Amino acid sequence: MAKRDYYETLGVQKNASDDELKKAYRKLAMKYHPDRNPGNKDAEEKFKEAKEAYEMLSDEQKRGAYDRFGHAGVDPNSGMGGMGGAGGAGFADAFGDIFGEIFGGAGGAGGRRGGPQVYRGADLKYSLDITLEQAANGFDTEIRVPSWESCDTCHGSGAKPGTQPKTCSTCNGNGTVRMQQGFFSVQQTCPTCHGSGKEITDPCNACDGVGRIRKNKTLQVKIPAGIDDGMRIRSSGNGEPGVNGGPPGDLYVEIHLLPHNIFQRDGDDLHCELTIPFTSAALGGELEVPTLSGKGAINVPEGTQSGKTFRLRGKGIRGLRGSYPGDLYCHISVETPVRLTDDQKKILRQFEASLEQGGDKHSPNSKSWTDRVKNFFS
Ligand SMILES: [Zn+2]
Ligand SMILES: [Zn+2]
Repeated sequence: MAKRDYYETLGVQKNASDDELKKAYRKLAMKYHPDRNPGNKDAEEKFKEAKEAYEMLSDEQKRGAYDRFGHAGVDPNSGMGGMGGAGGAGFADAFGDIFGEIFGGAGGAGGRRGGPQVYRGADLKYSLDITLEQAANGFDTEIRVPSWESCDTCHGSGAKPGTQPKTCSTCNGNGTVRMQQGFFSVQQTCPTCHGSGKEITDPCNACDGVGRIRKNKTLQVKIPAGIDDGMRIRSSGNGEPGVNGGPPGDLYVEIHLLPHNIFQRDGDDLHCELTIPFTSAALGGELEVPTLSGKGAINVPEGTQSGKTFRLRGKGIRGLRGSYPGDLYCHISVETPVRLTDDQKKILRQFEASLEQGGDKHSPNSKSWTDRVKNFFS
């Protein structure tokens, strides 16, 4: 018999939101759940059908495959690789969510049935300050991160040496307990042992019964050349340990770029401000400029104004995936001389007089600006 369309099964539109899916499934599941329909084969079939439809559509990846390829896209027997293995765990979680909530593990295949609850450890974040030079060239460093080691005193059991952890009396070692709620029995993580299935009556003094001790460990981290502020490097498995034998989380090293004395970074480009005396700006000449890779030079033409920008090609930073380095932009700032001596002032006044003799010729910008102001007031 041909399989019914999943959307039809749940009675929702093709564009139904996750919430709508969940609601529709919950309604069907309540109606057809075997606990409420003992011995009713038809209800059981309907329940299974709804469950499968929800499993598939609540998984984003599987739903996408189903929308494109129909049942063949999500059928584990059809040989469509890539969807099965990785999706399995995600499905159990998504399903466990709603299922655990209303029915406990009674559903079979997908539900978690008995045994200690296993969780992946949390991810950790480590903030690493680096200089612009380090970011440009890359470097190797060591960081100290918290880690948890099995307690030497109790060898990880959490029980005082000479004593044994007992099987949890609340859940009989299952890690989960069932509670009656209306028609249904609800399965929950055991509140006494938090899912481990064991109870420690005499906790180890060294680790307070946790079985682990927090220590620091040193990790080697390779910072690739071109890395930028805010980027993260993942160190797999170096996060917090899993619970009850679950896999550990990951460690993320987040890069924080320290401000630089001379350069500001903008992606692969660098910017710097070059302050030069007004005489150099007026006379022009070759100017030495700093670059990350040593000294560079630019030719400042006669009559260079404040705000003029010179570009040095390839003197920026080569990004993580860039094939060429960025550029260095030098922004000119002309400095007005200060604290002049009487002699210098005298020379400048003579100079000023000679400028005025030349009319607009030597100060075209000042002239045009003065004209604009005049027009504004007239
Ligand atoms: Zn211990
Ligand atoms: Zn327990």
